[in-house]
Amino acid sequence: MKKITRWSPDTCDCVIDFEWDTDNPDLPHVGKEIVKACDAHKGNDVSNGYAKVLDENQRKNKAFKLITDNLIDYAKLTDRGESIIDREKVSYYFDADRKLVITAKDIKNQDKTNIQAIIDLNIGTDKVIVNG
Ligand SMILES: [Zn+2]
Repeated sequence: MKKITRWSPDTCDCVIDFEWDTDNPDLPHVGKEIVKACDAHKGNDVSNGYAKVLDENQRKNKAFKLITDNLIDYAKLTDRGESIIDREKVSYYFDADRKLVITAKDIKNQDKTNIQAIIDLNIGTDKVIVNG
């Protein structure tokens, strides 16, 4: 069954309705309506707008996963024993070029170099910048 879900990503202030198939939830979701566009994503049609917001949100999630997998100091466990990023130590924003800038508090230079290389390898160069 097709279902419409309203999505407020944690990476920008857009609000987007997307359609997905409850019988095949792994199929790509389709953007249906941009209910609200943030300043960065104004002026896109629904298909492009949804693709851009989704790319940024998934990029952040992937980068966070790489950090929790590789830098244990920046991860914490949920009640269910799931390893997630420690948001008291890690913050992020998207710069004017929509590069994801991640600040990991007090990160050692060696760790920063290593995690940047891992992120570049897995996500692509020039998409995520890790700061201390
Ligand atoms: Zn947006």
